[in-house]
Amino acid sequence: MKLIDLHIHTSESDGTLTPGETVEYALKKGLSAIAITDHDTADGVKPAMKLGQSLGFEVISGIEVSTDYLGHGVHILGYFIDPDSPALQRLLDWVIEDRNTRNDKIIEAMRSDGLDISGALLDQMFPKAVIGRPHFAAYLVSRGLAENVTDAFTKYLNRGKRYHRLRTYLPIEQAIDVITAAGGKAVFAHPLQYRMEEDQLLKLTRCLVDCGIKGMECLYSGYTVEQSAYLMELAKRFGLCVTGGSDFHGSRKPQIDMGSGTGSLAVPYSLLEALRDS
Ligand code: AMP
Ligand code: FE
Ligand code: FE
Ligand code: ZN
Repeated sequence: MKLIDLHIHTSESDGTLTPGETVEYALKKGLSAIAITDHDTADGVKPAMKLGQSLGFEVISGIEVSTDYLGHGVHILGYFIDPDSPALQRLLDWVIEDRNTRNDKIIEAMRSDGLDISGALLDQMFPKAVIGRPHFAAYLVSRGLAENVTDAFTKYLNRGKRYHRLRTYLPIEQAIDVITAAGGKAVFAHPLQYRMEEDQLLKLTRCLVDCGIKGMECLYSGYTVEQSAYLMELAKRFGLCVTGGSDFHGSRKPQIDMGSGTGSLAVPYSLLEALRDS
């Protein structure tokens, strides 16, 4: 069976492989297509597609944006977007500016504790990346203040912890509208990550459908066969396409591999065709 991975981060956001290395790794893994879905940037899409074209490998243009739903950070994936869409670029510029404001607050808090962090140091450690909490986590690990990225979140960066600062999340409608305006198809990312009760998940799905969502990520790293079957049933009930991906971040999340996730993920190529045709 031809297998794909529709949820991949590169060094343009918080993954560790460059867009080019990501395509090479996908080829090595024997995949038939991948989508690049960096947080809040489409800058990795063109270099990956260009290399993909020269190697005869299919790369899908994508993005992942964070939205707010009644206090839950809900992630929306966008596929087949035009990375040069002015509407998309305007929105992403705004998101990056808001991130920078938030990041400056984190830097200030860390510096007042005597840490040697600065914006310049982060840019040097992570050239071109959309800087976010994962990078602060990597910094804390490099200074011996946490064992690994997860430990750094638990100790310092999760909500309520010493270095947590809020950033602004987009309303769901706006995220879906912009993805659609950029020629893309919006997909509900990893629906079981929000730890919602079933009735709340149903309400959220209804809200997403009303806003124009086209698919649901039912196959995802760590989801059991039963969980995926439950989500596929939900997708069917709401008339949504089924999608799947690993949420690969390179060595930043070493337990997740491209294509196979934490071991048993397998996303068939036919899902990509169905989404494209929807
Ligand atoms: P930000 O958007 O900068 O606030 O960072 C959010 C990103 O951090 C998410 O998209 C995840 O990739 C990552 N993240 C959030 N919580 C954790 C955690 N507990 N362990 C590892 N990574 C996390
Ligand atoms: Fe991430
Ligand atoms: Fe996500
Ligand atoms: Zn992701």
